[in-house]
Amino acid sequence: MKMPPEPYRIKSIEPIQLLDRAARDDRLVKAGYNIFGIASRDVFIDLLTDSGTSAMSDRQWAGLMIGDESYAGCRNYEHFIETVGALTGFAHIIPVHQGRVAENLLFSTILDEGDFVVSNTHFDTTRANVEHKGGIAIDLLTPKAKDLKSDFPFKGNIDLDALQKMLADHPGQVKVCVMTVTNNAAGGQPVAMANIKAAYDICGKYNVLLYFDAARFAENAYFIKQRETGYGNKTVREIAREMFTYGDGVLMSAKKDGLANMGGFLALNDTELAGKLTELLILVEGFRTYGGLAGRDLEVVARGLEEVTDEQYLRARTAQVAWLGEKIKELGIGIVEPTGGHAVFIDARTVFPEIPCRQFPGHTLVIELYRQGGIRAVEIGSLMFGHADAETGEFVPAPYELVRLAIPRRVYTESHLAYVVETLDHIRRHKETACGYELVYESKYLRHFTARLAPVAPVNEKLTAQ
Ligand SMILES: *Cc1c(COP(=O)(O)O)cnc(C)c1O
Repeated sequence: MKMPPEPYRIKSIEPIQLLDRAARDDRLVKAGYNIFGIASRDVFIDLLTDSGTSAMSDRQWAGLMIGDESYAGCRNYEHFIETVGALTGFAHIIPVHQGRVAENLLFSTILDEGDFVVSNTHFDTTRANVEHKGGIAIDLLTPKAKDLKSDFPFKGNIDLDALQKMLADHPGQVKVCVMTVTNNAAGGQPVAMANIKAAYDICGKYNVLLYFDAARFAENAYFIKQRETGYGNKTVREIAREMFTYGDGVLMSAKKDGLANMGGFLALNDTELAGKLTELLILVEGFRTYGGLAGRDLEVVARGLEEVTDEQYLRARTAQVAWLGEKIKELGIGIVEPTGGHAVFIDARTVFPEIPCRQFPGHTLVIELYRQGGIRAVEIGSLMFGHADAETGEFVPAPYELVRLAIPRRVYTESHLAYVVETLDHIRRHKETACGYELVYESKYLRHFTARLAPVAPVNEKLTAQ
């Protein structure tokens, strides 16, 4: 399998350094074996997230210089709304500084205590914002996604039967259906156009709004072009535009497919609702023509949204992720298949089958990636989602022990990713030197960010650095 050459060349570089093995061990101990506690300067290849980590183009950097920092009606706002309007087809566009603010504005305005929000899968900030407003967030992911190995092309789909049943069983109680494209929390898997359209029809029958959580709309559109019958000859822009016609609005974090380090928006047609959202925006973010962003940031997002639908770029991007997945599979390590848009998800139990879930095998792999290669990844398994049963107190593991290698956009090259594969091979071949972990400190909410852990068996100190 070949990676197509990136349709850009490097004009500006940011040095990175690999600390020696002793220093990496020291950083792990000081961080309480929590990868979130490591300083970025001590990380060689950072695959923690694809959010806000994109490299900007020369055109975007140039756009920074024409930022108009007037309080009201800056020219970059005009460019921003023209671009978002052309892309999404919606009439009212509200800039925000990042995606979760769009969620907060919408749910603050439309939800009452006890209302339901349904989704193919809520992203964690989306769920948190629903619950913060007293809402109940329900995930209705297609059962086809449960088999990690099946090659079903649209594992991000919503379960249409479950959606129909949910809306029929709770008339008037479901306020909005959020379609997350691609489905981030479910492995960055795409959602089919047919699924989106059918969901929109069902929602229409029950008078329920459909909003897109469109952080990765371009990657989703590119997968539709490649995988769904009837879309091979359409442009990504046309596919995105069609997709947005099957919805009432858009929540967007521009930190992903906006190719920007910060930014987002809300887009919709309902004038009355847009008015209410704007009132709240002015209260918490800023005036309606900048929404928490500098004029130059609006310009960067507008230019990023113009660039992200470039198909040569999307081809290289998705091929890079697929290539990494393929190489990891060749090592005999299990991954979620097929690879999605922004990350490879490793099934850590295929690397460390002897480490029980209660000792966090995914976390072991995260630690080994840093220890052996200075690589930062994130565990999505029992450290993140495992918990004690409310009645029995017994440990309930997460359904899967995954490790996410998120690929920042336009940042790393084939040789960086080849190094990640080499490191994984080294880990696999020396796995007897790795161990499980136990929690020594955990917070009440989102414990994975602040937890401190300890190895349950001493690590073999003789293991040499790569
Ligand atoms: C990142 C993300 C968000 C939240 O956006 P922020 O810009 O981080 O606030 C919401 N939904 C999805 C699918 C995301 O990936």
